[in-house]
Amino acid sequence: MHSEKRTEKRTEKLETLVTTVASRLTPVDAVSFVSVATRVLQDLVEHFEVDTCFLRFTDHEIAATVLIAEYPPRPFIPDPDPLGVVYFENADSTFVQIERQKEVAIFRPEKSGPDYNDRVREASGVPQVSLAAVPLLSGETTTGTLGFIKFGDRDWTPPELDVLKAIAALLAQVQARIVVEEQLRHSADHDSLTGLCNRRALYRHLDARLNSSEPGPIAILFLDLDRLKPLNDFFGHGAGDGFISTIAERLRATSAADDLVARLGGDEFVLVLGGSVDLDDAEARARRIRDVVTERVHLGREVVSRSVSIGVAAGYPGAATTSSLLSQADQAVMLAKTKGGNAISVFTDEMQEKSEKRNMVELSLRAAIADESLFLEYQPEVDLRTGRILGVEALVRWNHPLLGLLQPASFIDVAEATNVAGELGRWVIRTACRQWAQWRSQLPGLDLGLRVNVSPGQLAGLDFLDVVAKSLTEFDLRKGALCLEITENAVLSDLTWTRQALEGLHAMDVEVAIDDFGTGYSSLSHLKALPVSTLKIDKGFVMNLDSNPEDRAIVKSIVGLAESFGLELVAEGVENVESARQLLDMGCRRAQGFLFSRPVSAEKIGKLLAAGSIEVGL
Ligand code: C2E
Ligand code: CA
Ligand code: CA
Repeated sequence: MHSEKRTEKRTEKLETLVTTVASRLTPVDAVSFVSVATRVLQDLVEHFEVDTCFLRFTDHEIAATVLIAEYPPRPFIPDPDPLGVVYFENADSTFVQIERQKEVAIFRPEKSGPDYNDRVREASGVPQVSLAAVPLLSGETTTGTLGFIKFGDRDWTPPELDVLKAIAALLAQVQARIVVEEQLRHSADHDSLTGLCNRRALYRHLDARLNSSEPGPIAILFLDLDRLKPLNDFFGHGAGDGFISTIAERLRATSAADDLVARLGGDEFVLVLGGSVDLDDAEARARRIRDVVTERVHLGREVVSRSVSIGVAAGYPGAATTSSLLSQADQAVMLAKTKGGNAISVFTDEMQEKSEKRNMVELSLRAAIADESLFLEYQPEVDLRTGRILGVEALVRWNHPLLGLLQPASFIDVAEATNVAGELGRWVIRTACRQWAQWRSQLPGLDLGLRVNVSPGQLAGLDFLDVVAKSLTEFDLRKGALCLEITENAVLSDLTWTRQALEGLHAMDVEVAIDDFGTGYSSLSHLKALPVSTLKIDKGFVMNLDSNPEDRAIVKSIVGLAESFGLELVAEGVENVESARQLLDMGCRRAQGFLFSRPVSAEKIGKLLAAGSIEVGL
């Protein structure tokens, strides 16, 4: 009776143990697993009154058993830990059994018999131990071992063994769950083609490092393989993938353990260098990486190699952000690309200043259109024979509240890139037309052409023709007075749409001039098909006409071209009398340039117009 009660009590206690362990393990994940497992081992040690309890997982891929948790912790753990990772190949017999063990194994001192070894152990004072090894099973596979060590002897009752098996089963379940979790996490953070980290993992890594207390600087390299597309086109996408995998492998092989290598997709890679690395050292690393990456790659029977452009940037934790650092490296790589590829560019303070200015411009440009800090200057175009002013070209300027007076070169392309081009263009056209009307009212009978520059982005705007038509009627411009200037490249970028827009202008009697003629790759067959009335010879060919025979030859051929196509011709950038004379000799009569007048205010133009002509001095 007495002993029955005791047994009952013991069974109860065993059941509680299983429930405790189960509730501890339920919420566990990969991160908390080791600490929770250690706590479970402590429960087991206390409950079964053993001296040590350990949990090992079997890694069949590397044929080894790996220590996961133990309790109590050993007071001293040598490095490397002889109990940490134990390869079956050179393990002693107890460990070897673990590899495929399916049943609980009990080793007790008396069972091994009083052999020589035991006697030695006794003599040296090392106690004899008993060991219970419970396998963790996943189907037919042994995935680990739960072990109990007792100094001296210990017997295990069948109910106890059942509980051990139950607990081992719980641990095996959690183990399986963690493996799946890890796999999911790996695939969420890694690029499937190369196995490198993906964008997500890169961002997380950089976020963590830039928010840490590391001293910095933290440097990154942004790699962009040059001309990968032809490779895909000629050898197929399989070859392209093979090439990228090879490059990824090389990057992995050359990177240090604390570097992070990520593929952003396509042919773009980012390396985050471990530790504190300044720009000079990062650049040196970039050079070494370039050497490795550009080595030849075998793809089936083909041997190919690709150059690489690398952008380098560095920032300090607390100051830089992930996106600022990546954007800097990206800007640097763009610069490397514009140098023709196979180059390394470092994001410098100077580039920083430029990009800040650009951001500032971007932020305030729309407001500037509304608040009148934009204004127009006008540059006259003269008849070289008489000095009479034939027309004026409107040139926009911006009185920026912080950056001072800005020339169009520093904000037109920003406008283009940010969709403000349409608004800016509308403002310029309306303002110029209004000014033209004002001059007309001051000087009745004035015969003056008005030239306005139009950027590709504007030309593409849907309401472009509308804006022009409204300005024409509102300010009562006479037929042919307005001439819009577009660059060759704008014409060629979208021919169908350009043709429509230009034909629309033609129908309204608005002239069109090709600006900067000679700098684009002039597709004359296209120009011929378009309603264009004028070519403006780029100032690059005109400025040194007096001294450069090559320029002279080019201008001469442009003059011939204009004649044969029946186009008007204007030379811009005339800076000296000799060039003006040459132009006239070649048959170009209309010109614009500092020799006659710089771009000036509307008021000054008014005065010049009142005078009627400008002294040419030929
Ligand atoms: P562009 O249309 O070729 O304008 C002529 C540029 O050459 C002007 O520069 C003018 O100041 C400069 N220039 C005129 N004569 C001479 C000369 O004898 N020697 C030299 N070295 N330069 C001369 P700016 O005003 O800085 O304008 C630069 C460019 O910005 C213009 O080139 C034009 O493409 C663009 N731009 C100006 N205003 C507007 C605008 O309202 N809308 C658009 N979309 N673009 C504009
Ligand atoms: Ca122009
Ligand atoms: Ca021009």
